[in-house]
Amino acid sequence: MKIVRSVVELRDLVRGARQGGARIGLVPTMGAFHDGHLELMRRAREQSGFVVVSLFVNPTQFNDQADLSRYPRDEARDAELARGVGVDVLFAPAVAEVYPDGFASSVQVAGLSEPLEGTMRGPGHFRGVATVVTKLLNMVQPDVAYFGQKDAQQALIIRRLVRDLDIPTHIEICPTVREPDGLAMSSRNVRLDPTARQRAPTLARALRAVEASVAEGEHDAGRALAAGEAILAEAGIAPEYFAAVSSDTLEPVARITGETLVAIAAKVGGVRLIDNVLVHPGSHER
Ligand code: AMP
Repeated sequence: MKIVRSVVELRDLVRGARQGGARIGLVPTMGAFHDGHLELMRRAREQSGFVVVSLFVNPTQFNDQADLSRYPRDEARDAELARGVGVDVLFAPAVAEVYPDGFASSVQVAGLSEPLEGTMRGPGHFRGVATVVTKLLNMVQPDVAYFGQKDAQQALIIRRLVRDLDIPTHIEICPTVREPDGLAMSSRNVRLDPTARQRAPTLARALRAVEASVAEGEHDAGRALAAGEAILAEAGIAPEYFAAVSSDTLEPVARITGETLVAIAAKVGGVRLIDNVLVHPGSHER
């Protein structure tokens, strides 16, 4: 595995692989690898002859400077883990390589960027995400790029921008990888103290309660959410949002009649966590 810092060197390596006939896979990350990241890399490894993982903590998507400075970083450990999965190139550029002096362009996906995370983290968050992902897709020009369902809104936004801007990359969304107690894996989980770590799976339990309610035939979104709200209240967790929205448009739904995204964000012990589940209407009408 090569560790590469410059776009020029990255492009040389990718060009060589493509000329040799390899399909190119890209996994964009911000590092602090856990099994969720490694699953994306394994999937890429299975499906592509040449796998690039980018490791870049993108400053423009952080609305909170303290969150950016606290973001866990350990490139040496990440490189070891990526090597173990058989990644070909770890692209870990400096901020100046990605945002040279005079950088002035951005990508904004209207509509989908506004609710949920967009409301809580501000309009700059998804502009930062969309811009850096567009840049990475242009740098690598992969056949396939892999993203996690854990960041459902981000995945939708990336699918939309690739379609809107005619970027010739297939976007593959991989299921959320969880700890045995249900907690969605996240780089931020290392910041949970032991008490918060015990409470953190409450988010997944609340989502499962909504899922169960819908599976039992509850089609009213408010009543289905209430099953999860009770679990959150019992644990003393006040979510930033806990919502049932269309899995296409992210608009709130009153009735669950098609595939619906149930999404949550909450601070637990000072650490902001997000999670979601896709639910489908059950067979019994209520
Ligand atoms: P991040 O480093 O947090 O920006 O995440 C890099 C990629 O890994 C994104 O596409 C995330 O959606 C994905 N990811 C993060 N956590 C998980 C998880 N628990 N399961 C599956 N994918 C994940």
